[in-house]
Amino acid sequence: MIDETHGTGLASWVESADGDTDFPIQNLPLGVFRRRDAGEPWRVGMAIGHEILDLAEAAHSGLLDGAASRAGSRCASPSLNALMALDPVHWSALRVQASRLLRADTPEGERARRLRASILAPQAEAELALPAAVGDYTDFYASLSHATLVGSFFRPDHPLLPNYKWIPIGYHGRSSSLVPSGTPVRRPTGQVSPDGATPRVQPTARLDYEAEVGFLVGTGNALGEPVPIAQAGHLLFGVCLLNDWSARDIQAWEYQPLGPFLSKSFATTLSPWVVTMDALAPFRVPAASRGADDPAPLPYLTDPADHSSGGVDARVEVWLRTARMRADDQPAVRLSSSSLAAMYWTPAQLVAHQTSNGCNLRPGDLLGSGTISGEARDARGCLLELTRRGSEPLMLPNGEMRSFLEDWDEVILRGHCERDGFARIGLGACSGIVLPASRT
Ligand code: MN
Repeated sequence: MIDETHGTGLASWVESADGDTDFPIQNLPLGVFRRRDAGEPWRVGMAIGHEILDLAEAAHSGLLDGAASRAGSRCASPSLNALMALDPVHWSALRVQASRLLRADTPEGERARRLRASILAPQAEAELALPAAVGDYTDFYASLSHATLVGSFFRPDHPLLPNYKWIPIGYHGRSSSLVPSGTPVRRPTGQVSPDGATPRVQPTARLDYEAEVGFLVGTGNALGEPVPIAQAGHLLFGVCLLNDWSARDIQAWEYQPLGPFLSKSFATTLSPWVVTMDALAPFRVPAASRGADDPAPLPYLTDPADHSSGGVDARVEVWLRTARMRADDQPAVRLSSSSLAAMYWTPAQLVAHQTSNGCNLRPGDLLGSGTISGEARDARGCLLELTRRGSEPLMLPNGEMRSFLEDWDEVILRGHCERDGFARIGLGACSGIVLPASRT
C-alpha cells in the first residue's frame, strides 16, 4: 500500500536524509546496532541519512504510541525477530510513526528533534550486527537467465532440467555461517576432482560470489498449515542483500545427487539494513512474463494479484576491489548490474511453495532468491557466468585479470529501487574480503 510515508515531498530534520543517500525518509530500513566500543547493548534502529534512529530509546522516551509503541517495545533486542513475530499492522504503524517523528514539519518531529542527542546515533560510530537470528535459511534458484546459462555449460542442448518451469528449485542452506557485511571470508579448503582426476584436498581455486536478495520472514506459519499463495506475500517482513559465496570446484564434485553442501556452507554474507515490504510498495511490478511455450504455474502457485504486482523491481550491482586497487587508491569497479524483477518466481511463490508441504517458516527465517542474472553480459550475477567457468577471464581497468576471486579481493553488493514519481531508496551494501586459506 502506498501511503503518506512514500510521499516525494517529505523532508526530514535529519539533514543527511535529504542528500545523496540510500536512506532517505521514504526508506526507513531496520537493523541491529550499537555504538562501537561504548559497552552498549545491541538494539534495533532505523537508518535515516547518515544517522540511526534508536527505536528502543524512542519507545523508552514515549515518542511512540498504540501499535507502534508495542512494536517499539520489541526493539530493545539484539535481533529483529521479536518485532518480526508481531502482526504486520505493528510494523506498518511503526513505520508511519517513525516517518512523522523524522519529518521537519510535524509536531511529532518537533518533539523528536529536541531529543536528538539521545535518539540519534551516527552510522560512522556504529557497528551493525546480523539483522535477524536466522533459524533456517533456504536458497532458491529463481533466475531463469542464471539457470539457463549455468545449465548450458553442462548440457548445451537442454540447459534447463524438466522441472525448472514447474517448481521453484531450492535447497536448505546453513544459517550458522551467516555473517554480517564487513566480516572477512576465509577461502575454504575441500575435496576437488578437476576433470575427473583422483580427488584431492586443496584450497578452492574457483572461489565465486553470487549476487542475491534475501527475503526475511515475519510472522511465519504453523507446522502442517500451508500458506495459500494469496497470503504468502504477507509473511515477508523485508529484504536485504545476500552474497552466497561459492567454491565452484568443490561444488562440481560434491553436488550430485543431493545438491550443494560444503561448497556453500563456509560463509554467506548479509547486508545489515532490512528494507521492509512496506518501503518496497512503490516498486512492486508484475511477475516476469513467461515464454509463450512455458507452462502456467500450478494452482497453488497462481494468484491474480501476485501475477499483476508480485514482482519487486530492485537493481543489484556487484563491485570488486582488489588488493592492488586498494594499494593504488583506486575505487571499486562494477562487474554487473541485474534486476530482481526478472526472476521467474515471485517472492510469494517461493513462500507458497516452501510451505506447501506443511513446513513451518518462523520469524527471522531467510529465503535467498538465488543468483540474480539477466540476459545481458553485464547482468551476470556471479563469476561462473561472467567468465564462462573461468574460460574467458575478465580484464579489470588496471590490467589485472580475474577468472575467480583471489585472496584479498573485496566483493561489494549494492542495491537500490528507482521509479518515476517516487524517491529512490537503497538497500545499502553487503561486503566481504577474501582471506587466504588456513594452513593446516
Ligand atoms: Mn545461491
